[in-house]
Amino acid sequence: MSTIQNWQIEDAKVKALDDLRVELNILASREQTQAISGYVSLTTIGKLGKKIKETRRQINSYSQGGRKLNLFDKLVFRDIKRNVEVINIYYDYFHNPKNEMNFVSFFSNLMGNKSAYYDYLQMMNPDNYPHEELDRRNELSNIIFNNEVDNTMIFNPLSSNETLKEIKKSLMEKFSENKSFIESFYKYNGLDVSKVHVDISSTEDGRDFFENILRTIALNSEDFFCYKDKEGKIKIDDLCAKIALTHEYAHAIHFNLSQNMPNGLRTKSEDNLLYNQRILEEGISQSSELFMQDHIAEKQQALGLSNEEVERASLDNKCVLARLLPNLVWNLLQHRELEEELNPKIPKQFKKLTRVVFEEISGMKRLRKDPFFLDILPFFEFVDSSLVYIEGSRRIYPVVKKMKSQGYGTNTILPALFHGCWSDVKAQEKFIFDLYLPRLKSEN
Ligand SMILES: [Zn+2]
Repeated sequence: MSTIQNWQIEDAKVKALDDLRVELNILASREQTQAISGYVSLTTIGKLGKKIKETRRQINSYSQGGRKLNLFDKLVFRDIKRNVEVINIYYDYFHNPKNEMNFVSFFSNLMGNKSAYYDYLQMMNPDNYPHEELDRRNELSNIIFNNEVDNTMIFNPLSSNETLKEIKKSLMEKFSENKSFIESFYKYNGLDVSKVHVDISSTEDGRDFFENILRTIALNSEDFFCYKDKEGKIKIDDLCAKIALTHEYAHAIHFNLSQNMPNGLRTKSEDNLLYNQRILEEGISQSSELFMQDHIAEKQQALGLSNEEVERASLDNKCVLARLLPNLVWNLLQHRELEEELNPKIPKQFKKLTRVVFEEISGMKRLRKDPFFLDILPFFEFVDSSLVYIEGSRRIYPVVKKMKSQGYGTNTILPALFHGCWSDVKAQEKFIFDLYLPRLKSEN
């Protein structure tokens, strides 16, 4: 039997519910796209609220129907329920004005675990945090970190430095070797990787990702460490690249295979922001790393790795997660702290706080519930990133509108606007209407 299978929902009502949850997920993900860009459309929120109600109503009427389902359908039904529940909790907390759930309950409910918030706090306790592993990994990586060749130099296309060119060539060879190594690992495990492309990228944030539109993995060049060893030789360490590539391949394969599943269980580009699915997707990719750690240990001789290198690979996954934890816990604490300070039921003077005022004037509850939603920027930065666009449009749009109302087309309006770099919009307007356009007319 092949490990790749197709699964279909049999029960028509569960199938309909599954489609409904996809619609809901797309709406929820639209809200998230907005949130990431720093705004909220109350229309989207209204639609989301309605869709949640509709889906929950269908789930309830179905539960009361007492039908006999096959196990797969039962599981899908259960999954849909949890999916909708998560979105509902999220909606209630951030957007439903009638709901005043606190941050700790929100987070714990969202995670589906009553003690989730406190569990995370506990993870920072010195007895639980992997201080020894972090220290050991750091010790093992010391020579690499302290003697690393800057990656941006290696990938500098203008460089004429021969050593750097050589390094780049070796790095690209390492890239191909790793690609084959990981592919054979997955192929060996019965998984088709033929439709997955891999490219080396050098984005500044050092991120690796799987791009599911082009089905391409971007492996960041920063995952390869080029360094000078004790004997002064240039070496390329690719252990991180191996683990990272394993992780991204897992996403790619997960994406491909989930297409054989019912609609709601497929990885999609339009709803990939959803917490409940993303959490599991990342969990799957993180676990693939653990298999790779074992595989590296098994292939130690063939890969020509020292015991220390195998040990370093075995610490990778745990140490990466540990590095992310302080930031997560810090944010959990901050959200709680700010929420408590901002609780409008407590002191009157806090009513003056920006987050509260903003909620009052905009009707966007999210602005108060997510205290870091709109981060404070230095003045020059908010001028540069938002004010110039908004104020600029407010000044120029009426001029454009006026030209349009006089029957001018784009081929006149744009050149008119391009004539001069004005500071006073009234001056520009006068120039356009009293000088530029009349001359244009007289010349034609
Ligand atoms: Zn991932």
